Amino acid sequence: MNTLTGESQMQRIIRRTGRKPIQCKCKACQQQCHTPCLGTPQDILRLIKAGYADRLAPTEWWAGMVMGCTDHPVMMVQAIADGDWCTFFHDGLCELHEKGLKPTEGKLSHHSMKVDNWTPRKSISWNVAKEWESEGNASVIEEILEEMSKRNNE
Ligand code: SF4
Repeated sequence: MNTLTGESQMQRIIRRTGRKPIQCKCKACQQQCHTPCLGTPQDILRLIKAGYADRLAPTEWWAGMVMGCTDHPVMMVQAIADGDWCTFFHDGLCELHEKGLKPTEGKLSHHSMKVDNWTPRKSISWNVAKEWESEGNASVIEEILEEMSKRNNE
């Protein structure tokens, strides 16, 4: 929550992307789960606290450079892929959905998104990725890194 504006992280991303949370189980939406959707630092910390740390990994997000939004890869921790699909995708469903733990990109993404009304800076992926570089999220990111490093030392 931004203390000045009273706007939550999800409200901010909804405002910037123009997307709203939506649920759809159609084949086109399922295809999006080949690549794990992006979570904000807060999404990822929730997953760690729910016991899913072993299905997450540090990653460098290069897509922002390809889209022309940034000049460097964004460092983050995200869900891993397991074979051809996201580790949380089973029999056409997201394991995290019913638990309320689906990452923000997965919550907002829908097959109706069209190339003709898409701009890189308004994309869900860029607006979620940016959260990993926000000063306001530094303490959450630090906690994630501590938790991941504890796990690596176990
Ligand atoms: S976390 Fe869920 S919605 Fe996101 S890619 Fe994986 S299975 Fe799909």
